[in-house]
This record gives sequence, structure tokens and C-alpha cells, in this order.
Amino acid sequence: MTAATEVGCFETKAIHAGYDRSSNADAVSVPIYASAAFDLENAQRGDALAGGTLSGFEYSRVANPTVDVLERRLASLEGGVGAVALSSGMAAVSYALMCVAEGGGRIVAPVNLYGASIDALGDFLPKFGIHGDFVSDINDLNAVESAIGPETKAIYTESVANPSTAVADIEGLARLAHKHGIPLIVDNTVPTPYLLRPIEFGADIVVHSTTKGITGHGNALGGVIVDAGRFDWNNGGFPAFTHEELVISDQHVGKWESFHSRFGAQAFIKRIRIKYLRTFGAVQSPFNAYMQLIGLETLAVRERLGVASALAIAEYLRTLPHVTSVNYAALEGSPHNTLARKYLPSGVGTILSFTVEGDERNVERILDSTRVFSYVPNIGDLRSLIVNPTKVTHREVPKDHYEAAGVSDNLIRLSIGLENVDDLIADLDQAIAGAY
Ligand SMILES: *Cc1c(COP(=O)(O)O)cnc(C)c1O
Repeated sequence: MTAATEVGCFETKAIHAGYDRSSNADAVSVPIYASAAFDLENAQRGDALAGGTLSGFEYSRVANPTVDVLERRLASLEGGVGAVALSSGMAAVSYALMCVAEGGGRIVAPVNLYGASIDALGDFLPKFGIHGDFVSDINDLNAVESAIGPETKAIYTESVANPSTAVADIEGLARLAHKHGIPLIVDNTVPTPYLLRPIEFGADIVVHSTTKGITGHGNALGGVIVDAGRFDWNNGGFPAFTHEELVISDQHVGKWESFHSRFGAQAFIKRIRIKYLRTFGAVQSPFNAYMQLIGLETLAVRERLGVASALAIAEYLRTLPHVTSVNYAALEGSPHNTLARKYLPSGVGTILSFTVEGDERNVERILDSTRVFSYVPNIGDLRSLIVNPTKVTHREVPKDHYEAAGVSDNLIRLSIGLENVDDLIADLDQAIAGAY
């Protein structure tokens, strides 16, 4: 048979999309192309490749055949027109934010972002002229609209926040962004594209830390930027896309192009590859891309099992003495449950958090006495993980930000893996009972 590639449902595409066996020695598993550069073969072909009139590979900082399969597969799974894989999730976040606000600008975002993203928008990117305007609730569309000014270049949010599992109203935010001529950028790491595809609800750019649920085994770092290919970068607010540039022009024949004139709807993702990746060089290695492709093959079954266990654990924690609250948007009565039903009907993901009585001593005793849960600052691993956010993941987040995001010294975050759910529940049971 020939390989099914762009057809079928999510599970089918997660295994087949973007890969052509017949041009890869009929290998069923995507080969690792450990090659820094590629043979241009002859002068005419070299000229066509370099000029972009022929597609192919030249040098692995810009594109590599193994990484290319991962990019095509993730673009297909998210419903985008193109993707660029990077060496980490933070490379994806910072490239996307810098590209949209290149030359200076402002980005509206919630206070409950991933810690390093808060540090980027609140402290580091301002040194490059890119500033975050933080709102305490990204679903307060009036507050978001009041934060949008003439310098605003994007709304940036996470689809499901960590550790609260607050769900963003992507449709409402996309409508608001487009009314103001700016794109909506969504970090979709927590739910993975299996549970939620923001582009279907109007998002323009999706970023991921593929380190997490997509790879799923806690064994490789990676990130990706996916472009919906719908935003009009020629609306006057984004000069970086409409200036002519030598790198995409042909000075030999006097033909000058901007990213918008040359690539139209793909201007953003092409600029990420041809300027950001080519210049800053956070390249994903072919080996890591291979690990992520292997992870994607089982994403659907892992997520199905993980969300069922996460819900069972959240419901159980609610019944335990010493547990004062449980944050999991799929729970009846959660303040995020209405949005969870709309955006995440198959489950909100595999992280949840809860608060306990007492103080950080009790939290420390719980962390120190789990036997199945590992004390590890990661999520989306098939091993179950436990962490105290204020001491680890949210250390660089200003206190007023994390308090507004519901994070306190009494909060514990769990990332639910694929161990037997009864073992996980028994482990929490004994750890919590023994901490008081
Ligand atoms: C982990 C994470 C990141 C950063 O990803 P790395 O791969 O660790 O660089 C960004 N956003 C979210 C929501 C994350 O969980």
C-alpha cells in the first residue's frame, strides 16, 4: 500500500501525516537524517534551491528531512498551513512573540502564563522594546480590550493554564484581536492538539512545548510554531512583513520582495524560518524530532488514558480530609467547567492542582513521602509527577502575579502519567494522611 498521509482523523494523521515512505527507502519509521548539509548536485539545481524556486534541503539549520516530517505532521494535526520545529518550547514562545512585535510593541497577556513566558514579557523582552500588558483574567474581554492600544501587536494566552487549568475563551479573544487588526497567539502545550485545536476557534498562531505531552516520555526537549495562515500581515501594523528584504529577493535579476509579497498567507511562518531560525539558530535536532514523532504516534491513546485518570484523581482528592480545594476544569462546579465543556469535550489534560491545610511544612512532607509520584518539574511525562509551584516552577513569577493566578505555598501540582490509577490514588492517600 501507499502510505496514507494527509487523510483521516486525528489518530491516523498522528501516525502517517507528512511522511512519504517511497522517497525514504520504504522505511516504515521516519529515518533520522543525521546530515548537516545536502548535495546541491549541479549548478542549475543549486541556484534553484538557493533561490527558492525549487524546494529541497541545503543546510540543517534551516530545514532537515526528519524535522520536516515532524513539522508537516504537527501542522496537519493543528490545522495550520505550516510549522517550524525548534529546540525548546521557550524558543517557540520567544520567536513567536519577537516576530509579531518586531521593532517594538506591546502584547496583551494574562498573569497566569508559564513562568519563563512571564519573565520574558515582564522583564527580558522589554529590553528589546517588546512589553507585556498583563490582565488578571484573560476571559475578561472588557479588560483585554482596554489593554489594547496603538502599539499592541498581539494577544497571547495559554489555552489551558498551568497549574489552575483555567480555560481561555479562544473564540472571544480571536474576535477581539481581529477587530483590532492583531493576531491571537495561543500556547497549546497543556491540552495538546489531541484535546484542543485553537486554530479551529480562530487562533492565528499556535505554539507548543513539544517536550511535554507531544513527546510524552520526558526524554527530549522541543518546541513548535504553527501558522493558521489566515492573518493579514499587510494591514499597516506589521512593517516587518512588508519591507523588501535581500534574503528573499533576487538581486541578480533585480527582483525585490517582502515576506508578504513573496509568501502571502504564509508570511509569518516563513519569517520564523528564514529570519529567526536562520539567525538565532534554535534548531531542533533530527534525533529529537524522531523522538517526538514516536511520541506523536501514541498521543491519542496516552491522552485518553491520562485524562480519565486525572479526572478520577481530581474527584478522589475532593473527598480527602486535609485537601481544601482541587483545580481541574473538568470537575463539576469548577469555575472553568463551562468553557471546558465548550473547548475541551474530550478532557482538559493531564495536569491538576490542589491546596492542603497547614503550611509549606505539610506540603514538604507530602512531596517527600510519595512513592509512585516523582518530585520532578515537568508535565506531560508518562510517569506521574508532583511539584510545589511556588518553590520550583513559579519561582521567577512575581508574587502578585502568581497569587492572582491562584498559586500559593499550600498548592501542589500533579501531572498524571500512565501508571495504574489505583496505585496513584493510594500513593496520594498515604502521602497526605502521613503529612498531618
Ligand atoms: C514547558 C512549557 C513551556 C516551555 O517549554 P520548554 O520545552 O521547557 O522550553 C512553555 N509553555 C508551557 C505552557 C509549558 O508548559
